[in-house]
Amino acid sequence: TQANADLAQLIRTIPDFPKPGIQFRDITTLLLDAKGFHASIERLAASAPDDFDLITGIEARGFIFSSAMATQTAKGLVLIRKDGKLPGATIGVDYALEYGTDRVVMHEDACVPGQKVLLVDDLIATGGTALAAVRLLRQAGAEVVGASFVIDLPDLGGADKLRAAGVPVTTLVAFE
Ligand code: IMP
Repeated sequence: TQANADLAQLIRTIPDFPKPGIQFRDITTLLLDAKGFHASIERLAASAPDDFDLITGIEARGFIFSSAMATQTAKGLVLIRKDGKLPGATIGVDYALEYGTDRVVMHEDACVPGQKVLLVDDLIATGGTALAAVRLLRQAGAEVVGASFVIDLPDLGGADKLRAAGVPVTTLVAFE
């Protein structure tokens, strides 16, 4: 039986979304469950590094877990967004998708160089999104001291890539 089986059971799988052949792991059913949502934040916070300055979350589902983590750990929150949504001066990183490219941005003054940040998202698959976020945070001078995800899809290798890039990774639930 897997760790956090109680949480795994609250995550719904929707076949063929958003495309045929994709098994979409749907966290809305976890969010609906008061104990499950609370436990997911408590467990991610319990495995966070001892010493860090800021939480950073990735748009959009990542904001749900990162904001809860920020209040749970009493840290400020940095938003990493898709391009074109932040009002201030931004820095950005482009990254490859299966078809085409995407871009993540953050406010250029969101972290002070040398600050330790913990990256939070709902799910890591290929790791493309999280690796782009790590590059962006490093460009801003931050030290990425950890990355926390509710869900890992280990077959897609993202968590291993993140570890190879020097970022300790914590995940709660794995789906093969
Ligand atoms: P990656 O960049 O391939 O690691 O994909 C991770 C990103 O895509 C995260 O920001 C997730 O929110 C999103 N994502 C990919 N697959 C799923 C899924 O099955 N359920 C929910 N989000 C997903």
